Amino acid sequence: MKWSWNIGSFRGILLKVHTTFLLIIFWVIYNHLSKGDNIISTLIGVAFVLALFACVVMHEFGHALTARRYGIKTRDITLLPIGGIARLEKMPEDPRQELWVALAGPAVNVAIAFLIYSLLKITSQPLYFEEYDIITGSFLMKLMVLNIVLVVFNMLPAFPMDGGRVLRALLALRINYVRATDIAARIGQGMAILFALIGIFYNPFLVIIALFVWLGAAQESVMVRMKT
Ligand code: ZN
Repeated sequence: MKWSWNIGSFRGILLKVHTTFLLIIFWVIYNHLSKGDNIISTLIGVAFVLALFACVVMHEFGHALTARRYGIKTRDITLLPIGGIARLEKMPEDPRQELWVALAGPAVNVAIAFLIYSLLKITSQPLYFEEYDIITGSFLMKLMVLNIVLVVFNMLPAFPMDGGRVLRALLALRINYVRATDIAARIGQGMAILFALIGIFYNPFLVIIALFVWLGAAQESVMVRMKT
């Protein structure tokens, strides 16, 4: 991808960060300073974003390292403001393999959330799950909640999310791959319409997600048709 820098590699997979990622860091710094926060809490804010994106990177490595077990290489993993992208050379054609590759990413976030939960339990810190935790909760508490959010969001049964692939793989175990993709894409587009409707009334951000899901579903359908 253009405008991205190499920041390291792990097990032979290159890790890159896109220049636009810096915008998020600047935005966090600006947000803290404009509220009159001191340097320490601003730095903690930046550290939180970096910790969250480290979880995203581990999620992508979950996909990449599982794919490698099936002999599929990953070109690189790029960090963007919207999340991470692992560029696999191809997706496994065996639905069982696709299922494991797709599940491996969210499984990493489940493991991280569980680890943090155990840590909070052992150190007997209060655990409370109210809505405002995401703003006022401790560093680890917020990181745990966001890992759970990542799992839920990624497991939505719609392309281009991991849940869309899980659904297609499960269908493809029983029926033909193209038909499985079509059904999964249609379910994804149904969800996109639902998101858009809810978004119009409650949260405009959902409309953007809806558009993204709609395009993802359409693209997956076309790609599979080209392949067969
Ligand atoms: Zn994923």
